[in-house]
Amino acid sequence: MNPLQKVLVADDDPTNRAVLAELLKPEYTVLLAKDGTQALERAARHVPDLVLLDVMMPDLDGFEVLRRLRADPRTADIAVIFVSGLGRPEDEAQGLKLGAADYIAKPFNATVVMARVALHLQMVRQRRMLEHLAHVDGLTELANRRRFDEVFAAEFVRARKRATPLSVALLDIDAFKQYNDHYGHPAGDRALRAVARTAAACVRRPGDLAARYGGEELVLLMPEADAGVARAVVDRVRDALDRLAIGHEASPVAPVLTVSAGGATLLPGEDTTALFAAADAHLYRAKQAGRNRVVWRSAP
Ligand code: GH3
Ligand code: MG
Ligand code: MG
Repeated sequence: MNPLQKVLVADDDPTNRAVLAELLKPEYTVLLAKDGTQALERAARHVPDLVLLDVMMPDLDGFEVLRRLRADPRTADIAVIFVSGLGRPEDEAQGLKLGAADYIAKPFNATVVMARVALHLQMVRQRRMLEHLAHVDGLTELANRRRFDEVFAAEFVRARKRATPLSVALLDIDAFKQYNDHYGHPAGDRALRAVARTAAACVRRPGDLAARYGGEELVLLMPEADAGVARAVVDRVRDALDRLAIGHEASPVAPVLTVSAGGATLLPGEDTTALFAAADAHLYRAKQAGRNRVVWRSAP
């Protein structure tokens, strides 16, 4: 059962708030705000799925509240419906131009309000599902390559701006072709999922990302991790896989499924392409050196 979607009702009139709250309460989690300032504060704290926003309020008017919601990355995507006593077409047009999903004039009709709320919340759910599908790999449920590329680019900019480290590790399952040949493709899929889960459980710091780069290759992105910290994360993944001990009778490397890894930590003057290429080159060296090991580019 999905948790209830959250609706924030922001209106300075206590009667309006109470009426809307009574209407919505049976189907949604309802949050209330009595003015614009409180609306912004609650929106940032609770990140509701939808805001029903009065326009005329004593401190900040609804239009200004919407502008500020859009300016804050935490609240920028929240759907907003204006519920307003300002019923002129130009008021409605202004609200929609600012990015409101809808505009309902007061006095409102309860059935119409509920129908529009339901419609917009359904669109919110659909948008989230599309975002999820666009960013998540279907087999492993890790972030996909597209998501990795986006986050990598953003973390690179952050690392440069703050002069903090940024580490990347590429992990490739050893002798996975033999695994498939020996145990069958469905078993290969299960093993790949287990490796992905193990890797994801080992990257725990906020901002860390484990993604499926492609095939049986995973990538770990570790912002603010220097080479020592990042390498330790990769060692944790390898230790955890050892403990998991997925049998691999056909492997020339070990009786269990193993990975090889190559890693690199961002150097001054380097871009994302060069950093990634360095990790890839070190993965290649790990394979050449016999597999089931980590090769990390040491600092110059
Ligand atoms: P190496 O130790 O050099 O990495 O050898 P390898 O056999 O792991 O590497 P190779 O690149 O030759 O083969 C990769 C194999 O991974 C072949 C491919 O069928 C398998 N593979 C890639 N994606 C999937 C997948 O989603 N499911 C399964 N079951 N196998 C996959
Ligand atoms: Mg492989
Ligand atoms: Mg491979």
